[in-house]
Amino acid sequence: AKAAGGNRFEFADAEADARAITRHGLTNALPAALERGEFFIEYQPLVHLHDGSVHGAEALVRWSHPQYGVLGPDRFIPLAERTGLIVPLGRWVLEEAVRQARNWQRQHGGSALRINVNLSPTQLHHPGLVADTVAVLENSGLAPGALCLEVTESALIGADDELLEPLRRLAALGVDIALDDFGTGYSNLANLRRLPVSVLKLDRSFTKGMQQQPANPVDVKIVEGIVALAHSLELAVTVEGVETGAQAAQLRDLGCDTAQGWYYARPGAPDRIHTLSLSDAVP
Ligand code: C2E
Ligand code: CA
Ligand code: CA
Ligand code: CA
Repeated sequence: AKAAGGNRFEFADAEADARAITRHGLTNALPAALERGEFFIEYQPLVHLHDGSVHGAEALVRWSHPQYGVLGPDRFIPLAERTGLIVPLGRWVLEEAVRQARNWQRQHGGSALRINVNLSPTQLHHPGLVADTVAVLENSGLAPGALCLEVTESALIGADDELLEPLRRLAALGVDIALDDFGTGYSNLANLRRLPVSVLKLDRSFTKGMQQQPANPVDVKIVEGIVALAHSLELAVTVEGVETGAQAAQLRDLGCDTAQGWYYARPGAPDRIHTLSLSDAVP
């Protein structure tokens, strides 16, 4: 029994080692990957819950790794955060996503598709954030009001005025700021008033309880309370992880404004956004 236990630990160690080696390798490969253009963006539509029409899309970055295939952001964003490469990578994502949004608008003859881009904590602390964002918008010709930057609730917990200043400046220019993964960060609700945000993105963990009918009554109460609070502060509510029609109907009835999830569409190629006929998905 002792020997078997020993083997198991050796095996576990070897696995941990392999993971560490992979992490190390991926971290080292990031700068060249950015230079070689191995990153690409998938777009997931955001829809208005009341009629299913497309409001915009969230840009979600992927890495087409020559050896490991397509890697999701959870595999490399934390590594890029740690090394600071998130700054040039995040700038590339912003530039590419904004260019794409401008293309959609051109192809649509001015229809107001909006684009959501995620911002990491390191980008928030980077002194060039406002200037870079303004430059990207000016070069593309996209109106600031068509851009929404998503910042996680946890990145803003305990944020002082110095950290909030760049977000306030962007908000003053008309850029929307969304509080991402809302409800997972234990932030002080009263604190919400201080933040320059206009959208709450309710984390998927809260909408899960609405996948079954009847919905989990505690989750219904929580969403009800958050929607009331958000609307009283004139914030819009977006829900993530909508996977079923019943869930969409329930969230619509609870007063949520926009939704995102597999029920409508998985993240995908940019040209799919304006061909999406979402009228079938109206709950
Ligand atoms: P997030 O911002 O919370 O993005 C939503 C995640 O939920 C995405 O995962 C999306 O594919 C997934 N999702 C969407 N609809 C559904 C659904 O109906 N059911 C389920 N189970 N999942 C759904 P993804 O693409 O793997 O991204 C993971 C995280 O990586 C994102 O979470 C975001 O925090 C981060 N991320 C993605 N792109 C970027 C980026 O360009 N910059 C930064 N800093 N972070 C990014
Ligand atoms: Ca997000
Ligand atoms: Ca989120
Ligand atoms: Ca989330």
